[in-house]
Amino acid sequence: MGIPLRVLFIEDSELDAELTAAELARGDFELQMERVETEDDMSAALADADWDLVICDYRLPRFSAEDALSTLKNSNKDLPFIITSGAVTAEDVVSLLKQGAHDFMDKNALARLVPAVERELRDAKIREQRRVAEQRVRVLSRAIEQSPVSVVITDPKGHIEYVNPRFEETTGYTSSEAMGRSLGFTLLDEESASAMDELWSTVSSGVEWRGEFCNVKRDGQLIWEAVNVSPLTDPQGTLTHYVVIKEDITVRRSYEEQLLRQAHYDHLTGLANRVLLMDRLTVALENAARTGQQTALLGIDLDHFKNVNDSLGHSVGDNLLKEAAQRLSSCIRGGDTLARMGGDEFVVVLPQITNLRDVHKIAENIVRQFERPFTIIGKDYFVTSSVGIALYPEDGGNPHLILRNADLAMYKAKDLGRNQYHFFTEDINQRLMQRLELETRIRHVITKDELLLHYQPIYNLSDNSVAGFEALVRWRQADGSLRMPGDFIPVAEDIGIIQEIDSWVLQAACKETSSLLNQQPGELRLAINISPRQLEAPGYADFVRRQLSLNHLKPSQLELEITERVLVNDAEATRTNIEALCNLGVRLSIDDFGTGYSSLGYLQKYPFHTLKIDRSFVSNISENPNARRLIETIITMAHGLDMEVVAEGIESEQERRFLMEHGCDQAQGFLLSRPLPLHDVISNM
Ligand code: C2E
Ligand code: MG
Ligand code: MG
Repeated sequence: MGIPLRVLFIEDSELDAELTAAELARGDFELQMERVETEDDMSAALADADWDLVICDYRLPRFSAEDALSTLKNSNKDLPFIITSGAVTAEDVVSLLKQGAHDFMDKNALARLVPAVERELRDAKIREQRRVAEQRVRVLSRAIEQSPVSVVITDPKGHIEYVNPRFEETTGYTSSEAMGRSLGFTLLDEESASAMDELWSTVSSGVEWRGEFCNVKRDGQLIWEAVNVSPLTDPQGTLTHYVVIKEDITVRRSYEEQLLRQAHYDHLTGLANRVLLMDRLTVALENAARTGQQTALLGIDLDHFKNVNDSLGHSVGDNLLKEAAQRLSSCIRGGDTLARMGGDEFVVVLPQITNLRDVHKIAENIVRQFERPFTIIGKDYFVTSSVGIALYPEDGGNPHLILRNADLAMYKAKDLGRNQYHFFTEDINQRLMQRLELETRIRHVITKDELLLHYQPIYNLSDNSVAGFEALVRWRQADGSLRMPGDFIPVAEDIGIIQEIDSWVLQAACKETSSLLNQQPGELRLAINISPRQLEAPGYADFVRRQLSLNHLKPSQLELEITERVLVNDAEATRTNIEALCNLGVRLSIDDFGTGYSSLGYLQKYPFHTLKIDRSFVSNISENPNARRLIETIITMAHGLDMEVVAEGIESEQERRFLMEHGCDQAQGFLLSRPLPLHDVISNM
């Protein structure tokens, strides 16, 4: 099979066309042909089908080669056009070639035809490819001209060779003004200029670069642009240009700046927020380090602000905070930073202190600002402030430490009665470290099996017989010494592991004492202290029942000592547990009576069996007639409510006699017995 070739003959002689076709067929072409003789037929043929080649007779009775050429041109088709003829003058040939004919062929010497056709087909193909490429370039350049982003093309040195209309619109510079200048000629400042250096060093190594620049327009307005610079190379890989695409992001940037503002300022008071504060503090400390000066940080907390918020509502609270912010602002100098850290916490940074007296003055002024009441919607509210102060460098070398230590000093000021300021001192820190260490160790007391129990007997005052024992927990330390509960129980309560400890105590005490309690004639009882938290635990009563039955103890042999705080809390879960424990038959005792706020009403509400008079009353018996009267009243009252009375902490014979004479039922105290290990208690009996 030959190469397919579609030929349109413009020829009046059928024979001549056949001869030419035969010549072509020799050249390995697979011919498809049509012959026309008039302009109309030629136009129709061109319109109806695709052709590879036109072969046109020079002399036609009703048409001419010139007209055929212009017909082809009008059809917008770029086909090889070969003219064949008998005799023809050189002038005619030249004129026809000028008009667009591609070759001329003598009908009597067609040997050249095949190579000529082959060449013309090749050339036509190249022309076609070039047309496509040119078309593409036209589209691309239109795209750049009409692009919604600025396009700049520079030479390898960064000098502008082209800018598109969008560039002219956004910058206000015309193409001729921009031409030849360096790319960064519209940059705002040095910061951008140094980014520019980075840009060139990146792109000159052949890598694309992106970034954002602030530019100045011709009219002086600022504009932010996202810039993308790509190196352009020729087919040999040599850098010829840079293509720079710039997008106007001014709107986005100003939105970001607004967000940045929101991220740096407190919306309620307009003061700096924590983020900005940390920033300023960092800078202040760096400067102080350089100049060798001090920086002070004041942590300010409003006293009892929570009460205002909770009882008067958040809008009153918000107004108060706004006013507080204003008062605080009046205390600081230019260059100082006042920030709201959240809630009712404020911070002041005083950079570059020359005299510590200034810090005292400002702190004093702050505290004084809060001695005036806050008037909100016609009403006066008193909210004072506590201020803690930490200094750089002596109280900490970094912002976090300074903040923490100012905080600790502030808590110290609160401890000392609020409405005052306090400087950070090393012993505040020391105490904190000890406390943290204690917290860590206390979390592991159970797993490390470091707890043990001592028991203090409770005596019947009437006959000195033993009524029972109170289990008191001890914590064995690494050096063998024992740590007393007053030292670690409150911490265990704070960090929420008291329930584990109390549960361990109940289990251990029941187990250790069960044989003693069951063997003794008469009924001995085991008293155990439980924290208020324990009574809030759901299912606590069940836990107690299990422990009792596991150790074959009667519920009436167990007495749970509860402090007065439980009653004041009055939580639902607590009441449920107390009821369940009573139904079970366990005895309940109110411990340290007289130290809390419980009233008779509370005592009536709950079925207590025993009331323990706090040691502080007992130890005052000899000196204080009031204490004596109070004890008498408590005993009378408790008996009136059908409760037994135990006096705690009897250390002298005089105390014992007074209590016995006034009808106190039982007693505990060093005079009678100290808390001891169980085997010592047993051998003393
Ligand atoms: P409490 O329940 O009032 O226990 C009586 C405390 O007074 C005991 O101190 C005891 O050693 C002490 N004491 C007894 N007689 C005298 C005396 O004549 N003079 C003096 N000065 N003190 C006397 P302890 O063992 O240090 O316990 C302190 C507190 O710790 C207890 O007060 C109790 O509230 C609490 N506690 C002890 N063990 C536990 C426990 O297992 N769980 C809970 N939640 N609290 C416990
Ligand atoms: Mg007790
Ligand atoms: Mg007590």
